[in-house]
Amino acid sequence: MEEPVKPLMVANWKMYNNVSDSIKLATNLKNSLGDYPDVEVVLAPPFTSIYSVSIAMSETGIKVGAQNCFWGEEGPYTGEVSAPFLKDAGCEYVIIGHSERRIHFAETDESVNKKIHCVLNADLTPILCVGETAHERNEKKTTAVIEKQIRRGLQDVGMNDLQKFVVAYEPVWAIGSGNRATVEQIAEAHEHIRFLLARMYDAPTANNIRILYGGSVKSSNVREVMKVHHVDGALVGSASLDYEEFSKIIRFGDFDA
Ligand code: PGA
Repeated sequence: MEEPVKPLMVANWKMYNNVSDSIKLATNLKNSLGDYPDVEVVLAPPFTSIYSVSIAMSETGIKVGAQNCFWGEEGPYTGEVSAPFLKDAGCEYVIIGHSERRIHFAETDESVNKKIHCVLNADLTPILCVGETAHERNEKKTTAVIEKQIRRGLQDVGMNDLQKFVVAYEPVWAIGSGNRATVEQIAEAHEHIRFLLARMYDAPTANNIRILYGGSVKSSNVREVMKVHHVDGALVGSASLDYEEFSKIIRFGDFDA
């Protein structure tokens, strides 16, 4: 019998919180958590706060992630930050291919793939973000878009590398809009991702990969989202900037969960 995977709640702080605000937010979250379900919690602050937050959280179970990284290990790449540097600063996870990076920074499936290799080589866990735009959904291209992003993002990634791997399904139109995908839309996408991974690798490998939903997750809807089959956690933006709200999300929306 396979062990059920532990749910994963990731806070994507985006470009919010300087060092002192990051430490304050992480510390308030830790203090407000008390007992919570057997959930893995990851905070992804801006690069400048990663080291301080990882020190502040070092005695807690709360882990730290980055929102991006470069695809080289070191070298003359002014302004870039590599996966080994992130590991050294205390990171365990790296979000790769977030739609805001694809939209504003010309990130492609090819650069996403190179970054995933670097993250895995540094022994960090990638969180590969995939998802369709509103236009692609209207054109009924959702599953094709997700499939392309996953196949290209995972090019030349072997089965052994997938012991540590997370996929986040984030419909672009649901991010920061207050307009969460419906339970049916989430179920359809997550099932497609699970079956695709099983086809590309095998069923035990696919079942071991956590598939998160992201896009307007809040404490008032997280319980409904977490009940959907093949949803193993959430990637939370805006609602993670409020520690009381994110603390409720970690408890699946309810203090008594
Ligand atoms: P949101 O962002 O929760 O504010 O919709 C999610 C994300 O961008 O990862």
